[in-house]
Order: sequence, then C-alpha cells, then structure tokens
Amino acid sequence: MSADCLFCKIAAKQIPAKMVYEDPDVFAFEDIGPQAPTHLLICPRKHIASLEDVTDGDELMLGHLQMVAAKLAREKNLQQGFRTVINTGQNAGQSVLHLHLHLLGGRNMRWPPG
Ligand code: 5GP
Ligand code: ZN
Repeated sequence: MSADCLFCKIAAKQIPAKMVYEDPDVFAFEDIGPQAPTHLLICPRKHIASLEDVTDGDELMLGHLQMVAAKLAREKNLQQGFRTVINTGQNAGQSVLHLHLHLLGGRNMRWPPG
C-alpha cells in the first residue's frame, strides 16, 4: 500500500466506496463520477502507479483485471456491449496514479474516444 494513494485507501476501507467485487488480488468499485450507466473501476491491490510501471510478473494480474471486467459485465447485463479502458499518463488523462481498468457500459459509445 502507498500511504497517500486514494485507491489504496479505498482498498483498505479508509475511504468509502461502493465496492462491487473483491478477491485477494483485485478489487472493484463504482466510479464516483460515472461516464456511463455502468462505470466501474477494477484495480490490483498491489500499488502500481500506471501501466507504464508494470514489470515482469504482472502478466497474471493484468489478465485478471480483464477477467474480472468480463465477469462484472455479465453481472451488470452488458450483453449489448461495453468498453474497458486504461488511461496511462498525462496525455491520456490519467488522474489517479494507481493502475485501474475502467469498465463502461449501458450506452452507445463513439470511436475514437476524445
Ligand atoms: P483516470 O482519470 O485516472 O483514468 O480515472 C480515475 C477515475 O477515478 C475517474 O473516473 C474518477 O471519477 C474516479 N475517482 C476519483 N476519485 C474517486 C473517489 O474518491 N471515489 C471513487 N469511487 N472514484 C473516484
Ligand atoms: Zn495505490
């Protein structure tokens, strides 16, 4: 855990969030500012600032994030489609420096993203 990290504090229940999934390696919760009817954030418990910072050994965790997204998409009845997104760094608009996968669904989405 990183002491001054928002998502580490959410994982440790020091800051409240609407948790929708937890296992020993990954947790997921509702985004505070949803950009779609379903907008969840799926995170590793291990503090990794961004996708730029992953190292050998993180492969399973990265696959696990997508597997949890697929499971949650099924639970949220997103059969019509959904999007998983990882914003990395300044140009992509990453605002929280703890790796997270966005799961967005429940509306039509444009491509390319803004
Ligand atoms: P990023 O911009 O880094 O890809 O995504 C960060 C996301 O975290 C944003 O969608 C933002 O709404 C969400 N967020 C920021 N602070 C909080 C918070 O305190 N609680 C929750 N549940 N989500 C947050
Ligand atoms: Zn963290």
